[in-house]
Amino acid sequence: MERGKIIVVANQKGGVAKTSTVRNLSYALAEMGKKVLVVDFDPQYNLTTSFGVLPTQTPCNTGTLITNLLLDESLPDTNEFIQKIGSVDLIPSSRSLTVAEANLLMTPDSNDYLAALLNPLRLSYDYIIVDTNPSLGSLTINALTAADEVIIPIDPELFALTGLQALVDTIKKIKRKLNPSIEIGGILFTKCNKRTNLYRRTYGQVTKAFQSLPIFNCQIPYTVKVGDANSYGMSVMELEQANPASLAYLELAKEVLANA
Ligand code: ADP
Ligand code: MG
Repeated sequence: MERGKIIVVANQKGGVAKTSTVRNLSYALAEMGKKVLVVDFDPQYNLTTSFGVLPTQTPCNTGTLITNLLLDESLPDTNEFIQKIGSVDLIPSSRSLTVAEANLLMTPDSNDYLAALLNPLRLSYDYIIVDTNPSLGSLTINALTAADEVIIPIDPELFALTGLQALVDTIKKIKRKLNPSIEIGGILFTKCNKRTNLYRRTYGQVTKAFQSLPIFNCQIPYTVKVGDANSYGMSVMELEQANPASLAYLELAKEVLANA
């Protein structure tokens, strides 16, 4: 691959494992020898803390990056904003991204600000993976405008179908108007408990209602270890290599590589 690919993990529903997926997919891809940058584009900065970084320690974050760009329209030096956390590079987030979001809303033609910041970094990375906030507001629109590929995690226990059509419609609109290269990489079933009826019913409903969409073969099993790992600033693979979720995230990374 010559130019790095930008993958955005999005679903306007909270709690579906967007952040956990970015955390663990980025680690798995880095383990496979890929150069990976993750970008926390959620003002709640869960991805940042899942790397053991406190937002108070980071004056250089996605909030200040966007604000700098809004203020003087020239591209800030993104390299100053990148932290090396083991095998993965991180641009952290902080609460200041909410201010940037409000300013984006009031600035015409600002949908491509994140794309402008990330496009030059494609030369330095194989994958740039962006975590988004649970809304379809200006931050997520900016992320989708930068994306080559979108991964949509869904939690089969959490009214998975509600909102999915709205997200797919938004992606189609963005493809028409803002970013012709965007593709849906796949729907990813997360927090799966395959023994429940609800899981089986939701799986059937999603595959039927969204036949034209790709669905990742691997599914992430439900395990408290994912949350434990997040809270320790680790990937689940580092916490428990043989955990079924660790193996599933490695499988996801292989499928993502195959999508190249
Ligand atoms: P989002 O970013 O979509 O809001 P998170 O990644 O923060 O979702 O995950 C939401 C909650 O679900 C967190 O408490 C997290 O620890 C938990 N979680 C994520 N993945 C799993 C999993 N595979 N099994 C069990 N719990 C999980
Ligand atoms: Mg999150």
